[in-house]
Amino acid sequence: MSIADKILKYKSEIESDGVKLVAVSKNHPAEAVQEAYAAGQRVFGENLVQEMVDKQAQLPQDIEWHLIGHLQSNKVKYIAPFVKLIESVDSLKLLKEIDKQAAKNNRVIDCLLQIYIADEDTKFGLQFDEAVELLRSEEFAELKHIRIVGLMGIATNNATEKQTQVEFNELKVLFDGFKLSFFRKADYFKEISMGMSADYKLAIEEGSTMVRIGSNIFGKRVIKHWKAE
Ligand SMILES: *Cc1c(COP(=O)(O)O)cnc(C)c1O
Repeated sequence: MSIADKILKYKSEIESDGVKLVAVSKNHPAEAVQEAYAAGQRVFGENLVQEMVDKQAQLPQDIEWHLIGHLQSNKVKYIAPFVKLIESVDSLKLLKEIDKQAAKNNRVIDCLLQIYIADEDTKFGLQFDEAVELLRSEEFAELKHIRIVGLMGIATNNATEKQTQVEFNELKVLFDGFKLSFFRKADYFKEISMGMSADYKLAIEEGSTMVRIGSNIFGKRVIKHWKAE
């Protein structure tokens, strides 16, 4: 199946559940994104700042770019003018920098807090109590150029279906708790980004509103080290 066919397949399957498809184009060239775009896809996820900046410059301007990988504070300035959603906020320090750069660009940048749900050491994210502490802090209350629109999580790689389901459920339960405690009146707090190629169906069953699918659409990742063309 071509990239275009896969986009059509996933869009109809996922969007009929009311879930948003984020096509993860990391390590694939701009031409692959263009092909998906021509098939109607507008939301793309990248995990490297440089790669996203390069593609953004070459591709149609109505693409919604989501940053889904670990973000260093000193790189926020490169994506602040255009990024649609930063899914991987894992510290107050980073959030403050996003707020600062958003202000410089006269924008409010939507963000997700990345919550650590996996049973492994390699994944970035906030522990539950760290997320609570962040949301309770006075420093957070002062930020006017960011908006927390939900949570993101990555399940343990190659886990059993049962464990993956438990991890997704933990994120959903946490989301519901945060909604009541911190975002009761904020209708924008509504996104739960969970689910990738291997586990998106389970994620949707557990309440995902946004799935991030890469290899199922674009195939094996082809570029090992991104370089600007
Ligand atoms: C790469 C990546 C994805 C997509 O993974 P696939 O298994 O290729 O679908 C989703 N989310 C994040 C955070 C990623 O880094």
